[in-house]
Amino acid sequence: MDENEWRYHGEGNKSLVVSHVQLSIVLRLLKYPAEDSENPPQTVEQAFRQVQNIVDFSSNVMSCLLGDKFVHSGEVVKLPLEFVRQLSIKVQHQRPAWRCDKVMDIYSGCALCLPNLTSPTLHQPTHTPTLCIEIKPKCGFLPYSKHVSQDIKTKVCRFCMHQHYKVAMGTWKRRSRYCPLDLFSGNRQRMHFAIRQLIDEPQNNLKIFKGGRCIFSSMDGIEDSMDLNSLLHHLRPYFQYGNNRMNSHMTSKALLTDFIQGVSLSGDKWLCQESLDLQHGPSARVLDPWPQSGHLLLKVVVNALLSSQGSPSDSVLYRVRQTQMLDTLDIEGLYPLYRRVEQHLLDFPKERTRLQMDGPYNEAFLEKLHKCPSEDDGSLEYAVSKVHQYRVAMTAKDSQIMVALVPSCEEEEDDEGLPGQRQHRDFLSSRPPAFSYSVSILDLDPKPFDNIPRQLRLDQNIVSCYLRSSCALP
Ligand code: ATP
Ligand code: MG
Ligand code: MG
Repeated sequence: MDENEWRYHGEGNKSLVVSHVQLSIVLRLLKYPAEDSENPPQTVEQAFRQVQNIVDFSSNVMSCLLGDKFVHSGEVVKLPLEFVRQLSIKVQHQRPAWRCDKVMDIYSGCALCLPNLTSPTLHQPTHTPTLCIEIKPKCGFLPYSKHVSQDIKTKVCRFCMHQHYKVAMGTWKRRSRYCPLDLFSGNRQRMHFAIRQLIDEPQNNLKIFKGGRCIFSSMDGIEDSMDLNSLLHHLRPYFQYGNNRMNSHMTSKALLTDFIQGVSLSGDKWLCQESLDLQHGPSARVLDPWPQSGHLLLKVVVNALLSSQGSPSDSVLYRVRQTQMLDTLDIEGLYPLYRRVEQHLLDFPKERTRLQMDGPYNEAFLEKLHKCPSEDDGSLEYAVSKVHQYRVAMTAKDSQIMVALVPSCEEEEDDEGLPGQRQHRDFLSSRPPAFSYSVSILDLDPKPFDNIPRQLRLDQNIVSCYLRSSCALP
């Protein structure tokens, strides 16, 4: 293993990813809080178990719920410690400062090896680099549980409320106007609007890659990161065709009309207040005019997100949302069940293994998830089942969707895909460039059982912050 063959690719809160310079693979390494850097917080065996749990949870649980065509679970690999140390030194200066409260695990040598989903092998007649859009969509539905105590939670979506909290806490300077309910609405205009908002304010919800390298994200510190104008400039060769098929600039008024039409088409139950305010007064969310390349990018991405080979329930968005909706009780209804399990584990600590609270994530786990009494019969089994379902839903709410695309030749209209590849030929309506694309879902780690109390506190903080800030609004 030679560290010079790997480069920094990106990171989240829990892991750091490096990509191979030639092969289309990545290594995903664990991260620890910086204060633990001298002293690893877990043994090598525990680290190995953690990474194996991630693979098992993804392949045995999430893949069944989301569809195996979207999920790549990878495999655990053991790396030489010297390689890992050199790698950690090499990538350190490329890491964004705001992520450096954690350090890469250099003690266990365990990592997850995955296909590089930003540069999959697609039907690629030209040598154009793959374009890849990564979206972290977050929760796409309003809670409907009778346990919800604050009415506002059934009107304003969690992401929109959370934005107020994040700005108040200084996590981000500006609120994002992206609303997951728009993205998951299935209505093309609303979906376009949602992705435009992500591009305006990507935070950690949007990244764009070209040829496997991140070219657009909110993170400062990424060398080649660029602003909107240079992004649009980059898109031009992919999406330009003809001269007059489409106005090169759509006016903001036209876009707004499009959006409002989309809103009325999709019905009120889909709206959250933060989106609705678009329709009102001076705060109307006016969009800047955009060139053709930007609109075509949105069109292709939306097509990919909605594409299905059978019923609409095959689309990636549908599958992600269905899995998120396993959170049927909301954290408020789930918490008492968490307490029931917690009490049982205090009385009988050995039961933690039998109930599979920390794995193994196998068929038996999936069965526990599915075999849930429809009503709370006061049993431990009901509580365990609901807790497992909630954790699975949390994973789906935190995952990312990758849409990788390359222009394909219009002449070759045979429908044969290459063996073993999931790819779809898609043609835009007025015969502009055609694209081959692949859609995947990543970051499907199990969420720890012990995190549940923190989720309740966070929920309470977000709601009270939102109520305070919305009262303060004129
Ligand atoms: P989060 O904070 O969202 O929980 P995380 O720490 O769990 O993130 P990931 O989201 O899995 O980490 O990975 C971090 C980033 O690395 C992703 O946003 C993505 O850009 C990149 N990445 C992860 N896995 C792959 C992959 N298989 N192919 C290409 N890029 C990947
Ligand atoms: Mg992530
Ligand atoms: Mg994650």
